[in-house]
Amino acid sequence: MSLRIGVGGVFIECNHFTNQLTDLTAFERSEYLRGAELLAKTTGVLGGMLSLLSANGFEPVPLLYASACPGGVLQSNTYSSLKDELLQSLNVSGKLDGVLLCLHGAGAAVNASDLEGDLVRAVRERIGEKVPIVATLDLHAHITEELLIETDTLLAWKTYPHIDAFETGERGAQAIIDILEDRLKPFMAMAKVPLVVSAIHGQTKLPGPFADIMDEAKRLEDNDTLYSINPILVHPYLNLIDMGGGVLVVSNGDQSAAVDTAKNLTIRYWNNRYELQPRTLKPSDAIRRGMAIEGGPILLVETADCCGGGASGDSVHCLKALLKEAPDELAIIPVVDPNAAQLAHKVGVGKKIQLQLGHKLDPKWGEPVLLDGVVMKLSEGSFTYRGGIWDGRAGRMGLTAVLKVGSIHIIINSYPTYDWMTEQLDLVGLDIINSKFIVVKNPMNYKQAYEKIMKAAFVLDTPGPTPANTNALTYTNFTDSWFPLDLNTEISTPVILTSKSRDLARKK
Ligand SMILES: [Zn+2]
Repeated sequence: MSLRIGVGGVFIECNHFTNQLTDLTAFERSEYLRGAELLAKTTGVLGGMLSLLSANGFEPVPLLYASACPGGVLQSNTYSSLKDELLQSLNVSGKLDGVLLCLHGAGAAVNASDLEGDLVRAVRERIGEKVPIVATLDLHAHITEELLIETDTLLAWKTYPHIDAFETGERGAQAIIDILEDRLKPFMAMAKVPLVVSAIHGQTKLPGPFADIMDEAKRLEDNDTLYSINPILVHPYLNLIDMGGGVLVVSNGDQSAAVDTAKNLTIRYWNNRYELQPRTLKPSDAIRRGMAIEGGPILLVETADCCGGGASGDSVHCLKALLKEAPDELAIIPVVDPNAAQLAHKVGVGKKIQLQLGHKLDPKWGEPVLLDGVVMKLSEGSFTYRGGIWDGRAGRMGLTAVLKVGSIHIIINSYPTYDWMTEQLDLVGLDIINSKFIVVKNPMNYKQAYEKIMKAAFVLDTPGPTPANTNALTYTNFTDSWFPLDLNTEISTPVILTSKSRDLARKK
């Protein structure tokens, strides 16, 4: 009889600096899979897990899987309901030989600040100490002691931009197979330093300060002792104690190899810290610099309003600067504003409209702007992601409109969505190639989306819950000094967290 592996998870990256909370509709709009629907997944982490389990004669048993676009922390009842349903799916799944979870690692709820730690503890309580739990994470995870103690193996993806979701799912499935077939006796060590920086220089392709660590990690991995080495650039927009980045090592039974390797690589990461700090410009300075460059597109990177980092996407700081500095240059900017999108749908294509735009969802970060424009295009806002962690999956912006003010094309949508390539802009037929300026609201993926056509990119210093410079935020839960708040902060040694060695039931 084949061994039975429960497959499921809750996947979301949260942000403590937005006033928005995430509710169940965000998951329902995105991905909420049970039973046969979950087993039918062929892409992403789940696709990788399922295909490798089946190829090796293991039976995947569907638990609950829910994922949503990054956002504010989960409402208490939203988290409770997801957790209850996941546990309920475990209750009715029959006897399991292992549990494989797809998690993010930077989830948080009002009633569980460490969402993943809380979730795996609950799963562990149900399945006991003999059944292995393997979980996959984003490399932007906040890895806590609870998460390490309650799981047997944690593996993070190895690419940023994230292009290895499927492979990470396969790695997770391989790890649980290796445990069950007695080839892997996992012991984990996570070394952490108080380094809380934006992901802007966190690419994994050399050269780069984080890529340097990733490259070394891959070089040191072997199937024998150092089973998996996972550099972690912590998602910086959580306001939690013990935040920090570093390296997570899964060794094959060798505790000191795990601790030493995690420690050494983390010290190397710490030594690269100055290269991780971004340089930013005020929007008007960036626009003026862009005007001095021939042609376009020039990218204005308003990363402080990144939906993919949990911001609401409703900032108009850069829009205001464009209206002032370059209203007659062809430009594109996205703004989330459900009221404005609805108004535009009411008046119709080709009609003039006056409206207040922006900073209504998360008013803390700025004031709306009053605009007179023409509605150019209307859409229901549904598109399909082309690649990345949500490859092939539906993205839903809700009611969407393109408003033209001067030569600036504002894509107004109702719900925040994650930026991968240019799917949102393509849906409404915006003229990317001939634009002088394109405002992008993410810290990394714009590099791959516009790699072949952009003339320059400037990272902006604007207010918002996902800024390039983390010093712009007030963290109230860090007690010690951290980089870059204190640029001269020194550490004696990384903090080391370790897992628990379990006597897991193995089936040879
Ligand atoms: Zn990430």
